[in-house]
Amino acid sequence: MRDHTPAASVRAEALAILSSLGVPESAFAAQGLPARSPITGEIVATVRAMSADEAGAAIGRAHEAFLAWRRVPAPRRGELVRLIGEELRTHKDDLGRLVTLETGKIVSEGLGEVQEMIDICDFAVGLSRQLYGLTIATERRDHRMMETWHPLGVCGVISAFNFPVAVWSWNAALAFICGDPVVWKPSEKTPLTALATQAIVERALARFGADAPAGLSELLIGGRDLGEVLVDDARVPVVSATGSTAMGRAVAPRLAGRFARAILELGGNNAAIVTPSADLGLALRAIAFAAMGTAGQRCTTLRRLFVHESVYDTLVPQLARAYAAVSIGDPREAGTLVGPLIDGSAYEGMERALQEARDLGARVHGGGRVATGGADAFYARPALVEIPAHTGPMLRETFAPILYVTRYATLDEAIALNNAVGAGLSSSIFTLDMREAEAFIAASGSDCGIANVNIGPSGAEIGGAFGGEKETGGGREAGSDAWKAYMRRATNTLNYGTTLPLAQGVKFDI
Ligand code: NAD
Repeated sequence: MRDHTPAASVRAEALAILSSLGVPESAFAAQGLPARSPITGEIVATVRAMSADEAGAAIGRAHEAFLAWRRVPAPRRGELVRLIGEELRTHKDDLGRLVTLETGKIVSEGLGEVQEMIDICDFAVGLSRQLYGLTIATERRDHRMMETWHPLGVCGVISAFNFPVAVWSWNAALAFICGDPVVWKPSEKTPLTALATQAIVERALARFGADAPAGLSELLIGGRDLGEVLVDDARVPVVSATGSTAMGRAVAPRLAGRFARAILELGGNNAAIVTPSADLGLALRAIAFAAMGTAGQRCTTLRRLFVHESVYDTLVPQLARAYAAVSIGDPREAGTLVGPLIDGSAYEGMERALQEARDLGARVHGGGRVATGGADAFYARPALVEIPAHTGPMLRETFAPILYVTRYATLDEAIALNNAVGAGLSSSIFTLDMREAEAFIAASGSDCGIANVNIGPSGAEIGGAFGGEKETGGGREAGSDAWKAYMRRATNTLNYGTTLPLAQGVKFDI
């Protein structure tokens, strides 16, 4: 294990990790994609960007790999994912640290992201023996009807900067056991963690042996143009795209145009409701993590808070104190809870939204730049915004630590407000009243893909299907039956009799 000291230069430490994980020198170039650390704003390395032709060739290799990989039995495919999980366990400390260096997440969150990769590998290994189809009652004598799940083809993965490696693993672990090679276009803001992950996969592939075809795991380093190559290639029947709703709006029609499957994991504008019966101490802690954790840069970050008018004047001043006290700074330091924003444009977006809120008569606690990390690093104090009405910037996702809070009078009103935005990712209610809890998660309750009780909206476990409705895109990843999106289903009817009965009693005697 390396000695990770905060005093070490970001660049030196990141380069040492990349080299020890075996990222080849050929991944870097004098001219290319600058990989920047938000901790200091420094350029850590310049990464070689691929051309569209090279991306096409990588997709071609993955397609060739598919033709062989689909014939490898699923439990054997699971063995590869088991080895990837093992390599991730071995290199958790280094990869987690690199996540911190490249995204600015605090250390426990960087490690948590790698743990999530390990968890999905474990989940997928078990699943590799459970790709079940149904046997279905047939109306025809001496017939059997069943469904079979087959590998689908190359799975394209487009990922966002804020979970630079976990999102790949949610898709790749399932795709690999389902028989699909993966071509990954990571965020142009986080190429280093992608290169490190690919190096870790290469180690597992080397241990796995000869039945892993070349091209099973391909990486496209570059900008959105390479994402477009992936989206438009007919050899890629399923694309899982994680990022902003704007990205999804561009990608979805292109995929639909060629009838490819889209797993869309887009923006969120997540809310929580605090009711009169809530355990306010618990709610306060949950809200603080969900709204300020990861510097507000999670898709599930809490962005809107509806507090019942009877508890507003108790809870909101406590929250304002928590906002004033939270430790902001170098995410490598023990005790830091909020690290930097990814870049200057994220900071400007936050400032713009706060100004808009002020113009609407909001009272802003916090906000503003924290002078640390140097001129090219953007640390912001999280902002708690008491806003008179559910309007303006509260209706959209600003990818920064801003929590808008407003009062409500009835639960129906609060649920309506929860649902009154374009996004439909995650939501929570804090209540000790069973009727309120059930109403919130019922059919007429929250319209989000995730609806929690007495837990904040952010963060998720691997076992559940993850994703959201409406402008969040409708995709589901990770747990439950999310694997079905990576396979094609065939319905097979077999006649083991001597007659030929037709369905629905149709007669056709010749
Ligand atoms: P982004 O939309 O800017 O970029 C995401 C990825 O899409 C990048 O790899 C980018 O190169 C690629 N891309 C952008 N436009 C494209 C196009 N037209 N064709 C093909 N590829 C394209 O997002 P970001 O700033 O990296 O991430 C933040 C956003 O991601 C937030 O909105 C956040 O809510 C969302 N997000 C959602 C989830 C989820 O599971 N729902 C998870 C993480 C992040």
